[in-house]
Amino acid sequence: MVKQFDYIVIGGGSGGIASANRAGMHGAKVLLIEASAIGGTCVNEGCVPKKVMWQASSFMEMMKTDVKGYGFDVEVKSFDFKQLVHNRQAYIDFLHTAYQRGLDSNNVEVLSEYATFVDNHTIKAGTETYTAPHILIATGGRPKKLGIPGEEYAIDSDGFFALEELPKRVVFIGAGYIAAELAGTVCGMGSATYWAFRNERPMRDFDEMLSDKVVENYRQAGMSIHPNSIPKVIRKLDSGELRITFNSGEQITTDAIVFGTGRRPNTDKLGLENTTIERTESGYIKVDKFQNTTQEGVYAVGDVIGKIDLTPVAIAAGRRLSERLFNGKTDEHLDYDLVPTVVFTHPPVATVGLSEKAALAKYGEADTKIYQSTFTPMYYALGEHRPKCVMKLVCAGKEEKIVGLHGVGLGVDEMLQGFAVALKMGATKKDFDNTVAIHPTGSEEFVTMR
Ligand code: FAD
Ligand code: NDP
Repeated sequence: MVKQFDYIVIGGGSGGIASANRAGMHGAKVLLIEASAIGGTCVNEGCVPKKVMWQASSFMEMMKTDVKGYGFDVEVKSFDFKQLVHNRQAYIDFLHTAYQRGLDSNNVEVLSEYATFVDNHTIKAGTETYTAPHILIATGGRPKKLGIPGEEYAIDSDGFFALEELPKRVVFIGAGYIAAELAGTVCGMGSATYWAFRNERPMRDFDEMLSDKVVENYRQAGMSIHPNSIPKVIRKLDSGELRITFNSGEQITTDAIVFGTGRRPNTDKLGLENTTIERTESGYIKVDKFQNTTQEGVYAVGDVIGKIDLTPVAIAAGRRLSERLFNGKTDEHLDYDLVPTVVFTHPPVATVGLSEKAALAKYGEADTKIYQSTFTPMYYALGEHRPKCVMKLVCAGKEEKIVGLHGVGLGVDEMLQGFAVALKMGATKKDFDNTVAIHPTGSEEFVTMR
């Protein structure tokens, strides 16, 4: 017998949980099907373990270099990586319980099975079949490697979070968020770190000021940077070490190689061939601005649509969808413009809106004005290690509407959210000038640029 629900959500990650809870809150009979651990990528192999590791690395930097000038004679006697990993996983277990409690309180039924489509509105999971007038695909994605010989010896971000020992030498491949973040974390923890990317600069979609500063900071921290490096082959030596060879002929011998070379959507084993749900060439689910797929009553949110792969984006889209379907808000949808984002490099990157290059292409030179500031955060006032913070405002038109805001440096991760509200509201440079600064902070630089 086919079991009937109002709403079936496939995938218990950021988007699926948020949408299921919101639908349940509005009284819908909801089934959430999750094949693996509740919480999805963010909780289990993404934001959460990553931020814990980033924090640990930041503590290490603080103790080793930053506090001495303030009179503290701190010696880091040991660093128990195993203990860190154990505690991190215990925290993740705590989050699993918290998520389950939230779902229970909204009467969402949770099924631990892998779901596949039998037809447009019938789902098979385990031995049972289910149907609903509304079905959400929120199956996320998984890491992608490159297909080079010997890459089975390398790991990806999932493999990185499974490590129980900190490798002494690590090579990171890729130029995006994951390679940038994990390379900085491992370097801060004291491993010899190599960062190789295939183009001249990493983080190519970001304002150049940001990628240049990240590379400069990493070089100063002792990281070995390898631009224009395309991986060709990986070999495992008799000693157990790994050797990676690049197109240039350069070779690096190391203990671990981590790929951060993008992700692919979890749509290949969903049974979509039994439906009229269309995918893009890369396998992402095609949706309109209301998250409708090409099949009526079936929707998709999050990484599986390949738009902006961020947890708060998946959550916001999932919640808005449930408001539309189960709370009568017929026009509710997510505006994907001006989404703020932080890269947890050391120190972090914060960015929202257009890069300088993108603004010049859109508005032209005459209508683009750039304001920039470079300063040393007071946190480092008494330290020997004094990385500078750089910030930029990208303004457009006569009224100097702020269309981009960027920074690299201590604390920019926590500054960005409020400034993103201002940009979303259409703030101009004059609005920033009219806001009295808070002193002494780093964020005051954003309202005092000349
Ligand atoms: P997911 O969270 O991936 O959830 C999909 C779920 O669907 C999974 O649990 C999977 O098991 C399940 N599933 C798949 N197929 C099926 C099936 N057929 N049946 C049943 N279940 C199925 N974003 C940020 O905003 N900030 C960060 O700091 C950040 N850091 C990150 C660090 C790393 C290393 C990675 C990899 C990602 C990071 N992200 C970050 C991105 C963020 O994790 C994703 O954007 C987010 O998790 C996407 O949510 P989702 O609901 O679309 O998919
Ligand atoms: P990204 O899309 O950020 O970066 C992938 C990188 O892989 C690109 O920089 C690309 O380099 C490189 N690449 C692709 N193909 C090849 C190849 N054949 N050879 C060499 N390099 C290649 O993906 P990530 O895997 O880093 O992260 C996935 C997504 O997860 C991110 O886009 C982000 O949305 C999300 N995320 C968010 C975080 C956060 O919010 N802080 C943290 C981590 C992930 P090139 O530039 O040269 O094309």
